[in-house]
Amino acid sequence: MTQKAPEFSATEKVNLLGLSPIQMKDFFESIGEKSFRASQLVKWIHQYGVSSFYEMTNISKDLRDKLNNIAEVRAPKVVADHLSKDGTRKWIIQVEGGSCIETVLIPEGDRGTLCVSSQVGCSLDCSFCSTGKQGFNRDLTSAEIIGQLWIAAKAYDSLGPTQNRVITNVVMMGMGEPLMNFDNVVAAMQLMMEDNAYGLSKRRVTLSTAGVVPKLDQLADHVDVSLAISLHAANDELRNELVPINRKYPIAKLMDSAQNYIARMPDLRRKLTIEYTLIDQVNDRMEHAEELAKLLEGVPCKINLIPFNPFPLSDYQRASGNAIKRFQDYLIGEGFTTTVRTTRGEDIDAACGQLAGAVNDLTRRSQRYRDRAESVVKIMETSS
Ligand code: SAH
Repeated sequence: MTQKAPEFSATEKVNLLGLSPIQMKDFFESIGEKSFRASQLVKWIHQYGVSSFYEMTNISKDLRDKLNNIAEVRAPKVVADHLSKDGTRKWIIQVEGGSCIETVLIPEGDRGTLCVSSQVGCSLDCSFCSTGKQGFNRDLTSAEIIGQLWIAAKAYDSLGPTQNRVITNVVMMGMGEPLMNFDNVVAAMQLMMEDNAYGLSKRRVTLSTAGVVPKLDQLADHVDVSLAISLHAANDELRNELVPINRKYPIAKLMDSAQNYIARMPDLRRKLTIEYTLIDQVNDRMEHAEELAKLLEGVPCKINLIPFNPFPLSDYQRASGNAIKRFQDYLIGEGFTTTVRTTRGEDIDAACGQLAGAVNDLTRRSQRYRDRAESVVKIMETSS
């Protein structure tokens, strides 16, 4: 597997938290140390949650001093921690530069799924997603991405090989488009699956994408994870409206690329997850379900329907319970495994598409909100 070599600065301390196992080896080699130190460090940091080199007891005093001078283990800062009445928990995490991102833990029986952010804001501007409405600020570093899992696991004291694992699954479905931050997301996902770190199986780490096709084409060279495609419409005209990146990489190209990804994977039973957010009167009618079934004929996949989650000033409404049921029943009748994602953590704004954080792109954000507010006022004026 290829991996871009990290750049180790001579002046700034290197943050070891975000180094993938291969990058950690490169780091130790670059400072003239044996590469087996890399797995020791990965273990201390990710299995035991230790951030001080002085607590790493199998490292010599000299090496600890050396590391302390040139490196650090630094996670982003938690600024708020909300618990929903349904058990969903949301951390608001401040990253360098002052912006905030959000990370959500969804407990479900003996599973705990952590929804991780990859960017501060998002540049794709899907019409139904509140993250996009905030604009884009910057990519998260790999330390800020894996730091979310580190923080959540530490909050439950669930690090360490003998501890009870609270986080069993990770989905890259928080703020941002993971494939637009390719290298850092890949490094973080490698740590999620590394035995010396979190040891999650590839089935339990999911990357969700709106369809950045050239990057998706490269993904299999770097990492083997589960793949979810944010489809939301089965014809290009409608998808161009909902997911503007479709204008660049239309459905046929996206589906080809996604199928190639899973086809290259060793496990023949692997399936794509197709995400489809159901928006009232926009993409929830029977003709849409029929179109979707036709598009997915012969594609190894399961379908996950997501009832649209409203956010302030969004133009859309959630599909009705009846429409959702009809849509699901039709797809099941056509032979597709089709589930409806239960909306969790609504009381703490932790549901899909509600993750807004506090992106430092205030000019653009407030301008957008002003524009939207004005159009809402206009509609109200004309209809009254
Ligand atoms: N950028 C990635 C991750 C986004 S969030 C992607 O597009 O896949 C994960 C899922 O939530 C995506 O399928 C996204 O389209 C969906 N989503 C976004 N806003 C939503 C909303 N308001 N209601 C329901 N689902 C939403």
